[in-house]
Amino acid sequence: MNEQPGGPYPDLPYPDLMDRVVNLAKRRGFIFPSAEIYGGFRSTYDYGPLGVLMLRNVKDAWWRAMVQLRDDVVGIDAAILSSPKIWEASGHLANFTDPLVDCRHCHERWRADKIEGSCPNCGSTDLTEPRAFNLMFKTYAGPVEEDATVAYLRPETAQGMFVNFMNVLTTTRKKPPFGIAQVGKSFRNEITPQNFVFRTREFEQMEMEYFVPPDEADTWFHYWLDERMAWYLGLGIPEGKLRLRHHEADELSHYSAATADVEFHFPWGWDELEGIANRTDFDLKAHAEHSGERLEYFDQASGERYVPYVIEPAAGATRTMMAFLLAAYDEDEIGGERRTVLHLDPRLAPYQAAVLPLSKNDALVPLSREVLGLLQPVAVCDFDVTQSIGRRYRRQDEVGTPYCVTVDFESLEDRAVTVRDRDTTEQVRVPIDRVAEELAGRLRR
Ligand code: ATP
Repeated sequence: MNEQPGGPYPDLPYPDLMDRVVNLAKRRGFIFPSAEIYGGFRSTYDYGPLGVLMLRNVKDAWWRAMVQLRDDVVGIDAAILSSPKIWEASGHLANFTDPLVDCRHCHERWRADKIEGSCPNCGSTDLTEPRAFNLMFKTYAGPVEEDATVAYLRPETAQGMFVNFMNVLTTTRKKPPFGIAQVGKSFRNEITPQNFVFRTREFEQMEMEYFVPPDEADTWFHYWLDERMAWYLGLGIPEGKLRLRHHEADELSHYSAATADVEFHFPWGWDELEGIANRTDFDLKAHAEHSGERLEYFDQASGERYVPYVIEPAAGATRTMMAFLLAAYDEDEIGGERRTVLHLDPRLAPYQAAVLPLSKNDALVPLSREVLGLLQPVAVCDFDVTQSIGRRYRRQDEVGTPYCVTVDFESLEDRAVTVRDRDTTEQVRVPIDRVAEELAGRLRR
């Protein structure tokens, strides 16, 4: 985490942006503290009606770019509950640790590498020596709590791709360069979860392992750096809030020949959204050695047999969703009235459209429902009849809905509706029988 000269967020119009976004997320049903009626539970979060839509959109946008629009990447969905043998081979049992220190004064625990010699809680410098703390959640598969049944919740999705390498190779007949992608939950017993959903113990990852001939690894590493930066920028993260940071040699993980992080300018400074690593042949070789299976590619044309190198773009879905929210947040003035608006890309917004009858009038509501029925196949829609139309526009702006479709008394006469644009607030009249097509056209990119 590096801070910019001149303060953590010099160009920020709202010094308390983080509070505003956390507040909005709670108030509008994006993200709730988990088990809130019991006082919350250890930095866990639940995704509410709008959050589940947005998080799904983030994951879908990733899947679309990484799998659907390519012919060299396939997906899998591996088990979360996993054998200790996987984590022994991968090095996680021995190495997946953070240095833990205790404050002798207030007894808080901290990650030694994230604090500067004194307790962030009470300021005491009387700290214990750091000791290695393994971040994996351990549990028992089966009714008897004994060593034979120990299992781990996966701390990353990546190993699912390595242990299925031969299964995928033989069932899809892919040849390097090709990739295996996965989106799903991972668990880490973080010492200090913090900053809302930036660092939590349960989170979602979007990872892809791209298997390449060893002599092409460097080229593909750079290819994926460009692709991944373009993905964030294409979905609306401003250029000034995104950067690539290459790791120094002494910062590299035990398996990595090169790593760069995609970093976002969070309210507390630059921090990681995604790590892109050249993992070499470390993982396939480790699993081959531990399992006794051959994990190699045999090139029939050349008769050559080799262990591919792996380029891994590893992103966090929940962390990325938070970055999209922070980047989209704005407050402005429309017609002399202040509003909060999320300038989310329509592909990420929880609702792509809201259908709003001008009033609760008996004739307007059925026609509005007809419009809703036409739009639902092309867009995720909200339907809102309560309060004044101005208030309802504000409510939709605040959750990032790009289009409001208003059904008014004229609609009963001319069978047309008004489509309002969230960002420009411009309104156009569109015939009801063309509104689905019009919206689909606007949403298509
Ligand atoms: P950090 O240094 O922040 O602990 P990491 O380098 O260990 O992260 P990776 O193992 O590279 O992270 O995981 C890939 C991505 O998964 C990260 O870039 C991040 O977006 C996400 N991620 C990792 N740990 C967490 C967490 N505890 N909560 C939310 N997202 C996480």
